[in-house]
Amino acid sequence: MQSARAASKLSSTMHRVMEYAAKPQNGVTLQELLEFGSDITTAKLIHSAKFLHYEMPIRYAHRVKDLDTLPYGLCQMPSVQQVKKWYIQSMEELLEFPKVQTAADERRFTAMIESIKERHNATLFTMARGVHELKLTMHEAEKKGNLPISMADMIDLHSFLDGFYLSRIGIRMLMGQHIALRQKEEGWVGCICEATSPAEVALAAVDTARHMCIRQYGDAPDVEFHGDTNFTMPYVPSHLHHMLFEVMKNSMRAVVEFHGVDNALPAIKLIVADGDNNEDVSIKISDEGGGIPRSALPRIWSYMYTTANSHVFESMIGESVPMDFGGESPLAGLGYGLPISRLFARYFGGDLQIISMEGYGTDAYLHLRRVGDASEPLP
Ligand code: ADP
Ligand code: MG
Repeated sequence: MQSARAASKLSSTMHRVMEYAAKPQNGVTLQELLEFGSDITTAKLIHSAKFLHYEMPIRYAHRVKDLDTLPYGLCQMPSVQQVKKWYIQSMEELLEFPKVQTAADERRFTAMIESIKERHNATLFTMARGVHELKLTMHEAEKKGNLPISMADMIDLHSFLDGFYLSRIGIRMLMGQHIALRQKEEGWVGCICEATSPAEVALAAVDTARHMCIRQYGDAPDVEFHGDTNFTMPYVPSHLHHMLFEVMKNSMRAVVEFHGVDNALPAIKLIVADGDNNEDVSIKISDEGGGIPRSALPRIWSYMYTTANSHVFESMIGESVPMDFGGESPLAGLGYGLPISRLFARYFGGDLQIISMEGYGTDAYLHLRRVGDASEPLP
């Protein structure tokens, strides 16, 4: 009896997943978020909650369906099942929530959104562990001589993960924006700062990265700032921080490992350039850390590639899962720094490129779109 009821609940859940996954997702632009969020009123907050109430179950359903169709047995990995459970639970909570009509409804809705956002804090890390679990299964199979797929096929997984993580950035942006809209602050529209200073954000990222580098190696290179360091633009500082921090950590590690900690470390250069036609803002991070061989370049964007010899997952077995990118994370090791940073850039219409001169150093070009009229890329 019990199991019959459980089975019927499961089938109605999957039915809802299919129903909502069939609906199209609705993208927003940075410009729209800015316009909507200025002069926020209770009526606007209710409107925003209504949009989220409509949109989020659709986006979650799309992801559950994707997770179910993951190739190569990845969807069977315990960590991936865990992530799927979170997505289903959040979708169900949203669907069960009554229509948002009054200010009191909106407050309760926002409290729910806050708890949902927290539930998904460790999604990235948990998915990364799922991929790691798959790798272990494959190594076992390889030893027995019956490898289910080739290592090269794993590359295919990359485009799935790109879409999945990009969608996660979007969902969290919408939730974060709604939550932040309630806390009015001068110069801010939700989590968008109208005068985000790339140089200032970079300064904070450099500070933390140097700290981590010194903790790991005992020394860290200096960073010189060049170009238009007074320039500001509307952007989400936390996204910018994430990108600059990841690129900076990579450069610092490369410089220290290439030159050796007992030698003089050449400074890393950070250049901010604001395009004449009000279109592009570019930030270049140049290091003399020996570069990346051309043959390895395509792999740096993979979620499975790292040259760091850390045992992030092995050391975590049985422990509670940390929040993604917490301050305790190692300087390198997941192989997620570059691909996720590029997604953050692309989310608002920008991009991240890496150009390397093997034997000398690497230039990372971060392009941000200034007008912010690019709609979210929705997988
Ligand atoms: P992780 O740092 O966790 O390994 P990333 O995605 O940040 O993952 O980087 C992937 C790999 O790309 C690094 O392990 C490193 O081998 C290479 N890499 C990235 N940036 C640089 C750089 N500035 N100089 C040399 N190698 C780099
Ligand atoms: Mg890194």
